[in-house]
Amino acid sequence: MDLKYISRDDEERKVVKVGSTIIGNGDFVVFAGPCAIEGREMLLNTAYYMKKNNVSVLRGGAFKPRTSPYSFQGLELEGVKYLKEASEITGLPVVTEVMDPRDVESIYPYIDMFQVGSRNMQNFPLLREVGKQDKPVLLKRGLAATIEDFLYAAEYIAVEGNDNIVLCERGIRTFSSYTRNTMDISAIPLTKELSKLPIIIDPSHGTGMRSLILPMTLAGLAAGADGAMIEVHPCPDKALSDGEQSLDFEDFQKLMNKLKEVEGCFRDMR
Ligand code: PEP
Ligand code: MN
Repeated sequence: MDLKYISRDDEERKVVKVGSTIIGNGDFVVFAGPCAIEGREMLLNTAYYMKKNNVSVLRGGAFKPRTSPYSFQGLELEGVKYLKEASEITGLPVVTEVMDPRDVESIYPYIDMFQVGSRNMQNFPLLREVGKQDKPVLLKRGLAATIEDFLYAAEYIAVEGNDNIVLCERGIRTFSSYTRNTMDISAIPLTKELSKLPIIIDPSHGTGMRSLILPMTLAGLAAGADGAMIEVHPCPDKALSDGEQSLDFEDFQKLMNKLKEVEGCFRDMR
């Protein structure tokens, strides 16, 4: 591959700072929060709980790329403002998805990291726009992106001057349809072989199934992931989006406890 800005020419790995959180320094960091910000109270409740459970970055979607135009589309800028408030109260850095290059400027003051979602992984004007910013970017693998597609998308961002990029393996479309996507665990060590960038895994979108979040998080950890992104909702069965792949607070706490138990065993894989 012809990578210049994100390649792994030397042994130096990229360490990405998101507010006070450091990604890629050997710790396993957890990004968590609701798929969509549904309201102020719901977000703040979740944020308190995330803080109490040692989450490193609070996530929450405000501009939602829904498959159907009739599904809840997100609270847009109002939601992003709630995210800022949650960040100020808890001290947690926050990440939200941006879908349109024209929204980058308006979202910028409220967040610590831009997320480029799977459906926009090859939205080249968007990649270039976040590449011009001085805030880090979480780049999710496209629904049907090869490893080359994925890394060249990151290169598009870096070419513009911003190499503070964290990759995210979130599953790809295969013939296997019981799960929403198929998690490509090999993408973790492989992207690390080819590039200097850290990578986290998203077993919520990767599987679409709540029961698979814990085992897939552990698989990612063992494969050398620098962290995970988990969807959490106060009442998943009532969620306006992705409830079936969200953990409730109790199950999320179990996941965090399990990670605490085993995280250290895989430190040398990262
Ligand atoms: C998300 O993380 O909110 C999301 C929509 O994920 P993806 O882009 O991976 O589908
Ligand atoms: Mn979601």
